Amino acid sequence: MKIRVRFAPSPTGPLHIGGARSALFNYLWARKNKGTFIVRSEDTDLERSSRESEHNILEALRWLNIQWDEGIEVGGENGPYRQTDRLELYKEYTERLITSGHAYYCYCSEEELEHERETLLAKGETPRYMGKCRQLTPEQRAALELDGRKPVVRFRVPEGQAIHISDQVRGDVVFESDGIGDYVIVKSDGIPTYNFAVVVDDITMSMTHVIRGEEHLSNTPRQVLIYQALGTPVPEFAHISLILNTEGGKMSKRDGDTAVIDYQKKGYLPEAIVNFIALLGWSPSGEEEFYTLDELAEAFSLDRVSKSPAVFDRYKLDYINTHYIKKSSPERLVELALPHLEELGIRPDEKRSDKQQQWLIGFIKAISEKISYMAEVKDYIHYFHGNVPLEPEGEALEVLKGEQVPRVLELFMEKVQSSEQLSGETVKVLLKQMTKELKLGGKFVYMPVRVALTGQMHGPELYDIIPLLGLENVLERIRVTKVRYLG
Ligand code: GLU
Repeated sequence: MKIRVRFAPSPTGPLHIGGARSALFNYLWARKNKGTFIVRSEDTDLERSSRESEHNILEALRWLNIQWDEGIEVGGENGPYRQTDRLELYKEYTERLITSGHAYYCYCSEEELEHERETLLAKGETPRYMGKCRQLTPEQRAALELDGRKPVVRFRVPEGQAIHISDQVRGDVVFESDGIGDYVIVKSDGIPTYNFAVVVDDITMSMTHVIRGEEHLSNTPRQVLIYQALGTPVPEFAHISLILNTEGGKMSKRDGDTAVIDYQKKGYLPEAIVNFIALLGWSPSGEEEFYTLDELAEAFSLDRVSKSPAVFDRYKLDYINTHYIKKSSPERLVELALPHLEELGIRPDEKRSDKQQQWLIGFIKAISEKISYMAEVKDYIHYFHGNVPLEPEGEALEVLKGEQVPRVLELFMEKVQSSEQLSGETVKVLLKQMTKELKLGGKFVYMPVRVALTGQMHGPELYDIIPLLGLENVLERIRVTKVRYLG
């Protein structure tokens, strides 16, 4: 049997980490089994769905390099792949269910339903539809229609049935049909509900596995009943655990970024995000923590997907991203850094000169071991760019009060001016010479130079900073420090 799986987002917002994980697990399962991965759009919530969200979700998947074999924008034999383009098909299936007696028209008004709800609640029972319209005669229906009532279609839930779901992650899960109540499968505007449309799609697209978030487990009995009513095979289910924050609560906007685009914007690398989300609920058999997409496709299996919740640990993500930053070429990192530098108004000319490119590469090399994601270049640029240092505070200010400082800075200026070129090597030599000539310990030379140049006691290596600042900026920064702090 050829494996067929799908990712079916509702285009009501950006792609969230949880959604990306569902997409990834389906993608990996398809690749592992040489199957087919489908992406389609569940856009029946007309109010909240938008083409823009759909576009953004697809873009985010592409950015993560999660490619689909069939589906929206790609095409295939089972299209269309957007639910609002499939309404005719749902109509056909609705008629089948009505004809076979598995579904019926319901004319109950909002008020009647609300009244029923309250009565059941008052009796301490679970609110559910009690089947008032189950047995309407054609005459009763005609009268209600004449009254201007627009019906919904409800699924007739069989009584006293145990609904067994064999879930690849959760094992056997059993639901009792009696708690469910006849649920709406088509709303009064003719639009199918999720539980119905998803089943029609999964049947007509011949899905073999449904891998999705645990939040859909409670929907599954409603879906299984529809498969049974239609007499079609039920796919294998795999419900993957919720993603919790480090405090054990459900991940929400309050925990920071939850959308993939947030991470893209901050300059996380797509291969790091993929690696990180793969480990949210799935664990490899060995010790290795770093996996490319190809390696994941090789290693992935549903039986190593955990039943217990996954924890979204931002430190782990940063750790993984750092690994991939170190593995990236400086040229790639320069491209990724540019939008962040641009936020600070730093942009190279349109046709970047060799000199500018070399400068950018030098900058990236000097800091790439220090940053966890590319937006952090903004925290480092002040060391390397511009002619004014940050204002020193506290201990840094104390450093400038040392009695040797004027001598150190004088000699430093002399040396950089007479240096034929400022390279990392010449700067190393020059600073060493200074300690010898002034007969001072390294600290008494390097620290005032560092603070005078950067305003900070810590930061990237001086032999990286000085060549990138260039002679003019170096001299100007020293001059500014002298005027401000040495009188
Ligand atoms: N549209 C649903 C969601 O975004 C899909 C659920 C499913 O995969 O069945 O959660």
